[in-house]
Amino acid sequence: MVLPTAGGAVSVLAGKALTVLGAIEADTMGVTLPHEHLLIDFAVMFSEPRAASDKALAYQPVALSNVGWVRQNFNANLDNLRLLDEQTALDEILCSSAQADTRSSIRPT
Ligand SMILES: [Zn+2]
Repeated sequence: MVLPTAGGAVSVLAGKALTVLGAIEADTMGVTLPHEHLLIDFAVMFSEPRAASDKALAYQPVALSNVGWVRQNFNANLDNLRLLDEQTALDEILCSSAQADTRSSIRPT
């Protein structure tokens, strides 16, 4: 597909996706994760629970023992709001790629 640009010239990028590795044909993207935060510090959203019985949960690392509560209170657990470890981010995206044949991930900002 060829689209004209505002200036009338034809874009060589029409039908392609821009990636960190350069332009690729859109049909080679495969399964695409549409909104991924590989690294983020979203602590600005943190809201400490009001209930005294929940305050300790706010500062625990996310684990199997508290993941149910964290899912119900996503912004009340500080660890849940921070993805700061580059190696973990790399491991997770490679695991996703291997398990679901994911070839692309989009960071939309
Ligand atoms: Zn987002």
